[in-house]
Amino acid sequence: MKHIFGPVNSRRLGLSLGIDLLPPKICNFNCIYCEIGPTTEFTCERREYVPTSEIIAEIDTFLADAAAAQRLDVFTITASGEPTLHTGIGTVIRHLKDRTAKPVAILTNGSLLHDQAVRHDLLPADIVIPSLDAAREQSYRKINRSAACAPLDLVIDGLIRFREEFAGRYWLEILLAKGINDGPEDLAALRDSVARINPTRVQLNSVARPPLESFALPLSQSELTAAAQHFTVPVEILADFTTREREKFQPANATAILAMLRRRPCTAADVAEALNLETAPAAEALEQMVAQGLLVKTAHHHKEYYQPEKA
Ligand code: SF4
Repeated sequence: MKHIFGPVNSRRLGLSLGIDLLPPKICNFNCIYCEIGPTTEFTCERREYVPTSEIIAEIDTFLADAAAAQRLDVFTITASGEPTLHTGIGTVIRHLKDRTAKPVAILTNGSLLHDQAVRHDLLPADIVIPSLDAAREQSYRKINRSAACAPLDLVIDGLIRFREEFAGRYWLEILLAKGINDGPEDLAALRDSVARINPTRVQLNSVARPPLESFALPLSQSELTAAAQHFTVPVEILADFTTREREKFQPANATAILAMLRRRPCTAADVAEALNLETAPAAEALEQMVAQGLLVKTAHHHKEYYQPEKA
């Protein structure tokens, strides 16, 4: 399937079926930390970039297995780019809400929430997780490298307006990169904007997987903890997933591994965690896939990441 991946164990959402609305990589940002690669179509234009019917058909194929659907904690709508650029997002959300009782979460860069049509599309969701990495223009330009059609004041205005209309869980993700958007002035500006947006909580994150730019560097856990003190709403520092009994690796898992790595490079631990596999056999399987020429390994910050040979 082209648009569905997982289920994967998401650190913040539990066992999640991912629904990817866009081919790589249509976005109005070109974030320095992006895990997908450079933006190839840089636009704010909303269109039906892939047929909505094709996405819904894949969802229905998955839902036909009632036991698999029942195991999920959540459906997560995302994209290899910005999912609200797809005009079918509202249809996909409503379809999921009609067909299942499971919560529907949306991961978005939040930049199009100033658009009334986008806000209307997202209203039936249960959890909306937009981003706001900077509240100062120069830092916003440095970290998100947004298109001219997504000025910062419009982005913040959209985040505030959606909060006024949306009754579900509204978690604002802030990703801090060392020396880019983590200075005292940045944190003070973020604190003030977050107070105006008033999300249910802030989820504080830093650069983890191999980023688009090598100068996108992570903050340490203690630096993130210090940054968290600035906010007046509850803050969660996104931490490693640790629980759940792991399953034995099966040859059939190779397909899910390839699908996952096509979306972003991962370490063996990431793969094991996301697919709920025992770590050592999963690492062994990854090495075999490297030997077979299916995957390549790259090093980043003392960790080894796997990705498809032709990624
Ligand atoms: S908004 Fe998301 S998809 Fe777009 S460039 Fe930033 S990280 Fe990548």
